[in-house]
This record gives sequence, structure tokens and C-alpha cells, in this order.
Amino acid sequence: MIAEPDGPEDRLRRFATIWSRAVFPVTTTSSTRPEFEEQLLPLARRLSEALRARSFDADQGRVVGAALVDAHCTDPEALSRTLDCVDAYLVLYCGGDGDPEDLRARSARLQHAMAAGYAQALRERTLAEQEAIAQAALRAQGVVAQALHASEARFRAVFEGAAIGIGIADLDGNVLQVNRALTRMFGVSEQTLRGRNVTRWTHPDDAPQLWRLYQELIRGEREHYHVEKAFHRPDGTVLWTNLTVSLLRDADGNPQYQLALMEDTTERRLLNLRLRYEATHDALTGLPNRSFFFERLEKAVNAGPGQRFGLCYLDLDGFKAVNDSLGHAAGDRLLVEVADRLQACATAPGEMVARLGGDEFVALTTGPDTRQAVDELATRIMNALLAPVSIDGRELTVRGSIGVVEGPAGERSPAEVLRSADITMYRAKSAGGNRFELADPEADARTITRHGLTTALPTALDRGEFFIEYQPLVHLGDGSVRGAEALVRWLHPQHGVLGPDRFIPLAEHTGLIVPLGRWVLEQSVRQAREWRERCGADAASAPLRINVNLSPCQLTDPGLVRDTVEILERAGVEPDALCLEVTESALIGADDDLLKPLRRLADMGVDIALDDFGTGYSNLANLRRLPVSILKLDRSFTRGMQQFPADPVDLKIVEGIVSLAHSLDLAVTVEGVETGAQAEQLKVLGCDTAQGWYYARPGPPERLHELALVDATG
Ligand code: C2E
Ligand code: MG
Ligand code: MG
Repeated sequence: MIAEPDGPEDRLRRFATIWSRAVFPVTTTSSTRPEFEEQLLPLARRLSEALRARSFDADQGRVVGAALVDAHCTDPEALSRTLDCVDAYLVLYCGGDGDPEDLRARSARLQHAMAAGYAQALRERTLAEQEAIAQAALRAQGVVAQALHASEARFRAVFEGAAIGIGIADLDGNVLQVNRALTRMFGVSEQTLRGRNVTRWTHPDDAPQLWRLYQELIRGEREHYHVEKAFHRPDGTVLWTNLTVSLLRDADGNPQYQLALMEDTTERRLLNLRLRYEATHDALTGLPNRSFFFERLEKAVNAGPGQRFGLCYLDLDGFKAVNDSLGHAAGDRLLVEVADRLQACATAPGEMVARLGGDEFVALTTGPDTRQAVDELATRIMNALLAPVSIDGRELTVRGSIGVVEGPAGERSPAEVLRSADITMYRAKSAGGNRFELADPEADARTITRHGLTTALPTALDRGEFFIEYQPLVHLGDGSVRGAEALVRWLHPQHGVLGPDRFIPLAEHTGLIVPLGRWVLEQSVRQAREWRERCGADAASAPLRINVNLSPCQLTDPGLVRDTVEILERAGVEPDALCLEVTESALIGADDDLLKPLRRLADMGVDIALDDFGTGYSNLANLRRLPVSILKLDRSFTRGMQQFPADPVDLKIVEGIVSLAHSLDLAVTVEGVETGAQAEQLKVLGCDTAQGWYYARPGPPERLHELALVDATG
């Protein structure tokens, strides 16, 4: 076999094979080694040609170096193996017959150029790769931005169109964005709101925890908070909001913005305040009402150690008479005037005045020492009532009874305090009214409360705890007993005998007065028949008559006429043996409907007496339209005749009333005759009948019989 000498092409391939074998293991190419060899072959040829070229061009080395990078020979080991290979084999296989020295120099320069080209290509490639990554990132960002934009567009639409106020601020509190609703709520431009700092938006009504919540949110310790918050509007008004603040975090979860949602609650709040005001204030006088006062009293009696409270419980004296005789409108005006005066009495810090209802008011004072303060408060109130109140051209005298309670906080409940005040006020009233009394805990314990009596009233009638005393009515002309007034009493199992002033108002209030009144009428009429039967045997005496008091509530009872007729018929007593006493105040304001039953009774022959005449504010000219036949002059007139000589003005008044009454065909009875001098005086003035301790105190029915008999026989 003849060994054919290798041609230059074969030798070039052998060089390429060696090169590829050296470098292939460290490339990152996905080609096979032969494929890789095919890639290196043109590079080998370029080197070979450069080596032998007539004019040497080192840049061919750079081209090969760069090409290596393209061929994925990016590992630094690949370059060094390449250079080793070129150094050892290029001249050997590709040098041909050139100058060995020159070939070696050219090989060296080509190796340098290859390294340079390789390095540059590699750097460019890295940059390109980075660029591509950056570009990709940019592209990706664009996509994200677009997505964001879409959602932001939605967000914007919500933001701008929302009825709720929305604002975004940074973590330093600088307002960045606000929507239209928010600018409307504040009544300023977007510009004005932006650039404001939310930490400046303090308000005296801020909840104590508000700014702590804010700081926690800013620090990333809470995601949101919800408060009711007030803001000052630039125009000086107040904006109330339901405020929700949420923390917005960035992609890494770090706090970035705060987002505030505000709902304008100003109107609702005003409405609530108004409702609250209406619920806590008396519509007539504008004073705090009972429930508001209770709240305050509760606070006062539960105040910390060292705190005290003082309470004045005021009840007007004789207010009912005003109301009944002048009408409710006048009564209301009087209450308003009283309320105004009371209000002016309690203006110091810790003081308040309230209306408990009807003609009952309270004044409260609180503080470390209320002992003197409450005394002064009560005195101020009494003084405030001194000046008469002018209503419809009349000067009305206002009087009041005050119960004063004072004490340290933390000992009694509000109910106990009020009970004590009520009892004390009652004591002041019983002592004649127009005064104030200080609470006495020991007396309280003994005192009968209105509440206790009220609850015991209904069973008292069933248990037969009521009884009637009779007080004679004496004819002033001849001193004969003409009849008696029935006066009811309650024999209370614990408290003993109670006078009607203690329980009649309660019975009126609870409605028990109707059955109680019917019982009194029944008993009295039966008693009258008994007297008549007994005295009837004695022809000398006139038949005894019975006077029975009627409460205003009984006047409106639809069964009044029927019951009265029935009682009279059952007892077999003539109607003219009965006189019903109705207070002046109950009748003066009465309309025809109210008078109708009385008129029917009067037509039947029952006498109607106008009781306590002179205490109301009735117009004498009005008497004509009332179905009355008797005037009962109030005790206050007789009182004026107690001293000697009698008050000439009182005498003139009584004289005038008597002559007017007689001209209207009315008989005049006087109450409260306690002395013979009074009796004499009244007789001179023309009064017809008298009643009072001078003749007899109210007593059992037998007494009257005795008196009448003494009369008749003596
Ligand atoms: P009234 O109808 O004006 O009765 C007269 C009151 O004056 C009685 O008081 C009587 O005890 C008292 N009195 C009589 N003479 C004198 C006196 O010389 N000096 C003094 N200081 N007082 C005298 P009482 O019994 O406490 O009755 C008070 C009021 O209670 C009565 O006033 C009457 O309005 C009412 N009342 C009494 N019984 C009944 C009743 O059965 N039904 C109703 N609805 N009211 C009654
Ligand atoms: Mg009476
Ligand atoms: Mg009377």
C-alpha cells in the first residue's frame, strides 16, 4: 500500500480535528463533536490562510476569536485550550513551506488577536444578553403597566365617580390625591386639599385613640382603622365623617400610602343630635327632661371620692289652680316663665336645671363642696319666684316648695336621692309651702312615699281601709246644723290615718278616684238617710244634707250621672239632700260638654257648690254660666279675719263677693271658721253658712247627729 502524502487540505482538517477535540468538552454547544469540528473548519482555514498570506492581517485572528464566542465556546477554558492548540499545531499543520521563524511570529500575533476578538465578542454578547434581559424586562414592564393602567382606569373611574370621599396620602401625611366627593365635602378646590398634611386635621372632638391608631397604621402595625371624625371646614362649619383609613403596601409589603374613605355624616349627625336633643329635652320649656336629668344625677352620685352633689326638688304651689282656671295655654306659659327663671339660677359649672314633668323641676349642683352651694341655689330659686308672672294681663303669684338633698357621691342611688328629695319637698309643702326644707335621712325613713302610697291605693279600697269623717255645716243666722261635708280618710295599716291631701292627688293620677269617689258618695248618701230618719222623728230640725267632694276626673267619668241617680234611688234619698262640691279651678275653664252632667244633676235638684272659691283665677262674671247654687269661700279669706281688727281689704272683698253671689242667687258658705269673732264677722258680711273648727272638727257621723240634736233641742 502506498502512503499517499497528505495534501494541505488534509492537514487543515487534521488541525481542525485536534482543535475540536481539545475544546469540545468545555463548550456549551448543543452540537455533536463532528458537527462542532465542521464549525471550526472554516476558522481553521482562516487561520491557515492568514498564516501564509502574503501580507499578514492579524485581524483575521480577531474574527476567529469572535467566531468562537458565537460557537458557544464562551467558557474561559475554551479560549486557553484553543490558544494552546493553535500554538502547538497551526504552524505544524498549516505552515507549509514558509519561513518557520516568520510563521511562529505570525501564529503568536494571530493568537493575541484571537484572544482580543474573543474577549470583545464575549463582552458584547454579555451586554447583549443583559440588554435582552433589560429589554424583556422593559417589555414585561410595559405589559404590567398596561395591565395596571387598565385597573387604574377602573380605579380612577371609581375614585372620581364615588359618592364617598377618597383621599390618598403618603406616610408623612401629605395629601397626594383627592376625589371630587372629598373636595365637595370640604368645600374647597382639589388644589387646596392636595399638599395639605393630614396630621394637621385635628379637631377638639377627635376620639382619644384616633391619633394613636393613625401612628400604628403609618408604622405598618395595623392595616386599617375606622373612626368617626370631625373636620374644620374652611368656611368655619364642621364636617363630620365616618372615616376608614387603610394602609397601602408596595409589592414587598412595605407601607407606602394611606388611603382614606370618608362618608359625610354631618346631616345624619345633626339629625341624631336633634333626635337626642328631643329625647333629652322638654318640648315645652326646652329644659333637660327627666331622662337627661337622671343621666346627670347618676353621674353625680357615682362621681369619684371627694365629690358631692346637691339637689333642689321644686314643686310649684297651687299650679293646678292656674291650669284649671286659666286653661292649659296659660299654665304652659307660666311653666315656661318659671323654667326661664330657674335656668338663670343655675349657670355655674356643674349646675343644671331640668323639668321632671308637670310643675316639678330640679336643680342639680356638683363639685367638691356642695353644702353651701345647694343652699344658695335653693335661695336663688325662691327669690327667682318672688316676682309675679304676668299672663293675659293678670299678675300671677308663683310659689314653690323645695326639697333639698345634699351628700357625698358614692353612697346612694339616684332613685334613693330623688325619693329623699321628693319626701323633703312634700315636707316643705305640708309646712305651708313657699319654702325649702333640707332632707333629713331619719325623717325620710319614717316618711310615707308617694310611690308607696300609690301602689297600696288599689287594694286599700277592697280592704276597706277608707273611712269618712263629717264636718258640720252651720247656718250663720241661727247657728243650726244644716248638714255636713263628707271628708274621706285612709286608715293606712302602717302609717295610720292619712288625710285626703296625701292620697287624693294620687288617686286622681291613677284613676282610682272614680271608684273611690263612688264609694264616698254611696257611704255619705246612706249616712244622710240615716240622719234624716233619726232627725225626721224630730220635726223641729230641718232635714240634714250631705256635701260630697267631686274630683275633676269624676266630672269626665261618663257614669257620673247614672251612678249618682242610682245611689240616691237605692238609698231612697231625695236629690236635694245632696250637694256636690267641685273646685272652682276645675270648673272655670270647663266647656259645655264638661258642664253637661253637672247641669243634669242640678236640674234633678242636686246642689252644686263651687269649692275653694277665690283660690283660682276665675272671672266672677263667668259664674252665671255655671250650674252652681253655692259658693264656698276659701279658708284664705277667713284667715284674714283672724286678727282684730280684720284686714279691711279682705272685708271689702268678701263683702263684694257675697253681694255678687246673692245677686246671682248663690248661697255663700265660708270655710275654716276657727273663732267666734270670725263667725260674727262673716255673719255681718252676709255669709249664709259656715264650716270650721269653731263649730266642730271633722268627726264620726254620730257626732254630727249629737250636734244636730243639741242644736234642735238647745
Ligand atoms: P275641702 O273640700 O275644702 O275640705 C275642707 C278642708 O278644710 C278639710 O280638710 C277640712 O278638714 C279642713 N278644715 C275644716 N275646718 C277647718 C278649720 O277651721 N281650719 C283649718 N285649718 N282647716 C279646716 P281635709 O279633710 O284635709 O280635706 C282636704 C281636701 O281634700 C278637701 O278640701 C277636699 O278638696 C278633698 N277631699 C276630702 N274628701 C274628699 C273626697 O271624698 N273626694 C274628693 N274628691 N276630695 C276630697
Ligand atoms: Mg270640699
Ligand atoms: Mg274647700
